[in-house]
Amino acid sequence: MEQRDPDRTNDDARAHLDAEAIALIAIGEAPSTRGESYHLAVCPTCRSELDQLHEAAEIARTTIGDGALVAPAASVWAGIHRELALAPDVRPPGSAPVGAGAPAVGSRRADRAPRTAAPEAAPVASIAEARERHGRMRRVVAPLVGVAAAAAAIGGLALAWDGLRPAPEPTTLASASLDALPAWQGSTGAAVVTESADGERIVSIELAASAEGEGVREVWLLTPEVDGLISLGLLEGGSGTFVIPDGIDLSEYPIVDVSLEPVDGDPAHSGDSIVRGALDV
Ligand SMILES: [Zn+2]
Repeated sequence: MEQRDPDRTNDDARAHLDAEAIALIAIGEAPSTRGESYHLAVCPTCRSELDQLHEAAEIARTTIGDGALVAPAASVWAGIHRELALAPDVRPPGSAPVGAGAPAVGSRRADRAPRTAAPEAAPVASIAEARERHGRMRRVVAPLVGVAAAAAAIGGLALAWDGLRPAPEPTTLASASLDALPAWQGSTGAAVVTESADGERIVSIELAASAEGEGVREVWLLTPEVDGLISLGLLEGGSGTFVIPDGIDLSEYPIVDVSLEPVDGDPAHSGDSIVRGALDV
């Protein structure tokens, strides 16, 4: 009993997308390969990472510009300058160049020092080189990290507010009792699909297997004809929760299946199902 999605390859299904690719997709770029789109469709881990970044980017879009940026006090730059032992002529970004306009702190010393011979100039140059090397990554990821921090702060406020009233209960969408396949007589299981207030669908799996077996346990959604399957992830221990990717119609994939998979790098279903059951959708 071997089922294999024709599009699926080892690379697509097993290698997670790197942070840069996910960040680019989160800010609106299309996935660069079909493999990436496919992986996103089937990998709950990458999907949830993308959703989080995407949410952060959305919050940033709707909040940036709401408040004016406040220039830091001069003492902040002085502190940075001292801490990093910067050359006296290194100015804060956006400030007037040395010699133009009003003299700033340290500029008199800079005027006296022969700038090209200053040994402190070397680390600054290498920082610039390093920044150039990692430029693309930093431009994409650094703002998102900042945005994520802002989102976390906003989230913290929302959480504090939410704490004052009862959290909305997730809605139960469907459930199934999972029955043992012949080779696994005595195993039992259950699956419950819930939908959170923000529309995310989670399937909670409970499994009491009759034996341990060599390998790992993987949770799948199958079509009734078993001509389509989606891996939801690995089940560690006797219970776990798994995000059902957006766009998966549970009436098309109503069968919950937990299989024993050898650790052989083959992403296809091993055919060795422990328990299986149909959701009442
Ligand atoms: Zn992944």
